[in-house]
Amino acid sequence: MPGLATIIAEIAAEMAEAPHRGMVADYIPALATVDPRKFGIAVVEADGTCHMAGDADEAFSIQSISKVFSLTLALGSIGDKVWERVGREPSGTAFNSIVQLETEAGIPRNPFINAGAIVIADMILGNHAPREAIGEILRFVRSLAGEDGIFVDGAVAAAEQETGFRNIALANYMRAFGNIRHQVELTLGVYFNQCALAMSCRQLALAGRYLMAGGINPATGHSVISPRRARRINALMMTCGHYDGSGEFAFRVGLPGKSGVGGGILAIAPGRASIAVWSPGLNARGNSQLGALALERLVHRTGWSVFEPV
Ligand code: GLN
Repeated sequence: MPGLATIIAEIAAEMAEAPHRGMVADYIPALATVDPRKFGIAVVEADGTCHMAGDADEAFSIQSISKVFSLTLALGSIGDKVWERVGREPSGTAFNSIVQLETEAGIPRNPFINAGAIVIADMILGNHAPREAIGEILRFVRSLAGEDGIFVDGAVAAAEQETGFRNIALANYMRAFGNIRHQVELTLGVYFNQCALAMSCRQLALAGRYLMAGGINPATGHSVISPRRARRINALMMTCGHYDGSGEFAFRVGLPGKSGVGGGILAIAPGRASIAVWSPGLNARGNSQLGALALERLVHRTGWSVFEPV
């Protein structure tokens, strides 16, 4: 196998030539202006080596990838009580779907669809003011990545607030079942701000290291979460991380992965690497078109699928 640096450089060059790049999300106005030709990839290996290609140092809106970090925080603070208010099944529906909430008593199928992540935001809010909860998420992500430069993009957060009609509907609907415990404006304030986190591929791959390393941040040796919970988060990323495209992503890539409508994907090769890709064009399911293709090629060339015999 050629070295990882070569593989990544080849993949970035191939993606620059790709004819079908998908469509940039435009339902959040602040995302519609992002250049669709951007492409970045960063791979942090278990020994800490970091390989990058393309626009891997440019910050983009991580959007739903933040749901991995908020779930980790919620599990750390209230433990398995999380599962009393959110399920662990793939939804088979779009990220912003409301349909299952009516028949399932306001309990979202999993923490990675919008409804589930809004419930998780409500848990993190706890007894805090929204500003404190947002600060807690930001500090957590900065400490995972070991980088203070990570920030919340205020323009993206404001745009989400102004146009997030479906998320407002989801939150109100769940509140009617008692599964949102705060005023919806407060809970959604936390959710919109976490989605507006701006990070580069390098920062994101660094932040994901604990998921490749059994819950331990390999840079500090500190436990972020228990090994069992790290395994379970990876399982949820594999089964639910790409919404109604999760089966297709597992079929093609075979790694736990979490996408966001900003065009990023965080993928974990347990024991081997934490990988972040970014290409803003999305497929029909709202997942990065070239991001998935780049990961498919990376896994093909490295043999990193979790379904590969070791
Ligand atoms: N902030 C986006 C929303 O709530 C996140 C969706 C996503 O990245 N899939 O609609």
